[in-house]
Amino acid sequence: MTQMIVPLLDLKPQYRQIREEVRRVTDEIYESQQFILGPRVSGLEAEVAAYCRTNHAVGVSSGTDALLLALMALDVGQGDLVLTTPYSFFATAGAIVRLGARPVFADIDADSYNLAPGAAAAALEALSPASRRRVKAMIPVHLYGQMAPLEALGALAETWNLAVVEDAAQAIGAEDDRGRRAGSIGTAGCFSFFPSKNLGGFGDGGMVTCNDAELAERMRILRVHGSHPKYHHHLVGGNFRLDALQAAIVSVKLRYLDQWTAGRQANAATYRRLFAEAGLEDRIGLPAEGPGRHIYNQFVIRVPRRRDALRDHLVSRGVGCEIYYPVPLHLQPCFADLGYEEGDFPESERAAAETLALPIYPELSDDQQHYVVDQIRTFFEA
Ligand SMILES: *Cc1c(COP(=O)(O)O)cnc(C)c1O
Repeated sequence: MTQMIVPLLDLKPQYRQIREEVRRVTDEIYESQQFILGPRVSGLEAEVAAYCRTNHAVGVSSGTDALLLALMALDVGQGDLVLTTPYSFFATAGAIVRLGARPVFADIDADSYNLAPGAAAAALEALSPASRRRVKAMIPVHLYGQMAPLEALGALAETWNLAVVEDAAQAIGAEDDRGRRAGSIGTAGCFSFFPSKNLGGFGDGGMVTCNDAELAERMRILRVHGSHPKYHHHLVGGNFRLDALQAAIVSVKLRYLDQWTAGRQANAATYRRLFAEAGLEDRIGLPAEGPGRHIYNQFVIRVPRRRDALRDHLVSRGVGCEIYYPVPLHLQPCFADLGYEEGDFPESERAAAETLALPIYPELSDDQQHYVVDQIRTFFEA
């Protein structure tokens, strides 16, 4: 096959589809010169709350700030502990540490890459009685677009009296086996509108969903420096506001989200068929798909031993791919003082060494997918 270029993500076809609508709504904002919060942001909040099936949603400046704000509103601070996974984007643990709290890591399930309830329970039980009292919350991450097992994790949270902050940055519209949406089950759900997420803005943005009116109100106050009423502060918050421009653009894109999700799911099904036809199923591990709704923010394969060589091969053949994530969080240099060591979380470490994300964006063509699988086949034949 002649060389093709298959980027990991190409947002231009999506923009061509919505260009006129985006120009119209952004132009209205330029004419109004109203850039901060306002009706565009509250409009998107209502739309996202409805989409995620929650009572409230609070627009914020990024997915990272969504996590920070949710934890702040839940009073997580100095000396507290928060249970989470070491196999996630940095912000999951970064938000905990920035508030003066400490992450307590527990290993992932090898098939789903999500926090394993058994490991989470064991990590809590291993704490000293004094530490146990300081555990305030857990942050399950719905990695790659598939929900973490919130039934079992929720039961654990109830036993230990923990708030559950869902890191749903990669999972807008994902559903568990009971049809419940990401961000609607825990105490709060955190979303990101970073451009590479399934619902991305034209810059940074995010949202926190919740069902509790008081929590939503607290987050709205903390989002503007804790100011309530204006210039009177009972709380120290920050500037966590979502721009009207981003809200207007994300609102346009939200109307296409289910169509784009269907495109990603169809591409995932095509990969599964092509890998089976190429006889590659025993060479690579395909993503496990549970009974819920997987929205495929990423299509991640597992390549024992030869992952880096395959990545180099694909890049040299014009196929974009990426390692999410090469260093598990417990081994990040900035968290060395937490005292974790190599070998502490074998499944997270093995995932970091073996996983590779392939292009899965909705507009990917059949030819491009054939090309990707063909390049992987030639790699294993060589
Ligand atoms: C992207 C992401 C975030 C952070 O979102 P930003 O909008 O980039 O700040 C947090 N957690 C996970 C799992 C993510 O993928």
